Amino acid sequence: MQHSSPADQTRNISGAWRRTARGAGLLAEDGSVAASIFAEMSALAVRTQAINLGQGFPDEDGPALVLEAARQAISDGMNQYPPGRGQPVLLGAIARHQQRFYGLTVDPGSEVLVTAGATEALAATILALIEPGDEVVTFEPFYDAYGGLIGLGGGIHRTVPLRAPDFQPDLDALRAAVTDRTRLIIVNDPHNPTGAVFPRATLELIVELAHRHDAIIVTDEVYEHLTFGAPHIPIATLPGAWERTVTISSGGKTFSLTGWKVGWLSAPAAIVTAILAVKQFLTYVNAAPFQPAIAVGLDLPDAYFATIAAEMQHKRDVLATGLQRAGFDISVPQGSYFIVADATPLGFSDGAELCRRLPELAGVVAVPITAFCSPTHRAEYAPLVRFAYCKKVELLEQASAQLAALPRA
Ligand SMILES: *Cc1c(COP(=O)(O)O)cnc(C)c1O
Repeated sequence: MQHSSPADQTRNISGAWRRTARGAGLLAEDGSVAASIFAEMSALAVRTQAINLGQGFPDEDGPALVLEAARQAISDGMNQYPPGRGQPVLLGAIARHQQRFYGLTVDPGSEVLVTAGATEALAATILALIEPGDEVVTFEPFYDAYGGLIGLGGGIHRTVPLRAPDFQPDLDALRAAVTDRTRLIIVNDPHNPTGAVFPRATLELIVELAHRHDAIIVTDEVYEHLTFGAPHIPIATLPGAWERTVTISSGGKTFSLTGWKVGWLSAPAAIVTAILAVKQFLTYVNAAPFQPAIAVGLDLPDAYFATIAAEMQHKRDVLATGLQRAGFDISVPQGSYFIVADATPLGFSDGAELCRRLPELAGVVAVPITAFCSPTHRAEYAPLVRFAYCKKVELLEQASAQLAALPRA
C-alpha cells in the first residue's frame, strides 16, 4: 500500500469535496462557492447606496409582544438546549395554529417538529426521504435552496414550468413530470419568486398524482399568511393528503423576523420520526429563547394576521403601480413578498444585465428570475426580474419615483 504525504492527503480530500459539492451545483468551476446573484446584488446595493429590493427581508421589526417575549425568555434563563423536537410551548402553539386557521388536528408531541427555519425543515425532509437517484419534482422558477438540497441528497430534480403572466402550471405538464420514479413533490404556495397562489384544482391534482405514483408531498408555506384575496389552502387539508404530506412553515415571514430562523413542520408521526433522525445531526436544536416568543406570535389574535396581509397587499399595490409607470410589464402577485416584472418593454432582453445596471440607472436593486432557474431553462426567463415589496411604503414610493426616470426603449 502506498502512503501519501499529509499535503497530498489534504489535496485529495479537498479535491473529493470539490467534486461532490460541484456535482451538487454548490461550487463554481474554479472551486469557489458558486457566486450567488443575491450576494452580488446585495453587495452592489451597499456599494452604490441603491434601494435594495433584491433580497426578501422586511425593513421593520415584528410585533413588540413577540420581541418582548424573547427578551423575557433570555432573562428567565431559557438559554440552554431545548428538547430535540422543540419547546413544548411552541409545539402546542403550532398545533393550535394549524387547528385555528385550517381545521387540522395535529398531535404536538408526535406530529410536529421545530427546525432552524423552513430551510432546515426542507433540508432534513429531503435528506431523510430521498435515496440517490430518486426524482424530486418542483415548479420552476424555484426557491434556490431546493436545487442545492436535492443535489446534496443525490436526487434528480425535475421541474414543471410556471409561465407569465399568471405563473400557473400547465396541468398536463404536471401530470407528465410525476412518474413512479418521483419520490417527492415540493410545492411552494404562495410561491417565491412569482407570487402565484395555486387554486384548489391544482392542489387536488398534486394529491391525486402523489397517490398514483406513491410520492410524498412536501409543502413550503412560509407565506401562508401573506395572500391577497385568494385563500391559502394547505395541501394537507385536502382529502387523502395528510397521510403523505410534510407541511413546512416558519416564523420568519409571518412575523418579520427572518433572522430568528424558527421554522417547523407537521406530518404523520412516522414521517416526523424519520426527519428527526436527520435533523438531530444537522443542528440538533436551535433558538431556545426565540421558540417561546414565536409561540406568543402564533397565538396572536386573528386581527394580527389579517392586518399583515392587508398591509402587504398595500405595499404590493404601491410597487406594482410604480413598476407599471416605469414601463415594466408586471404580473400582479396573489401572495408573498415579491413581484415579477418583464423588462422587455424597456429594451432589456437580459434581466441579469438590467439588474447589474439598475443601481446606476435608477438607484434600485432587484434580482433576475434566472437566479431561480436551472441552467437549461434560464433562457426562457431571461427578461424577468424580481422586486421585493416587503419594505416601508415611503421606500417603495421613493423607488417608484426613481424607476419612473428609466429611459424607455
Ligand atoms: C424565506 C423562504 C424560506 C426560508 O425560510 P427560513 O425560515 O428563513 O429558513 C423558505 N422557502 C421560501 C419560499 C422562502 O421564501
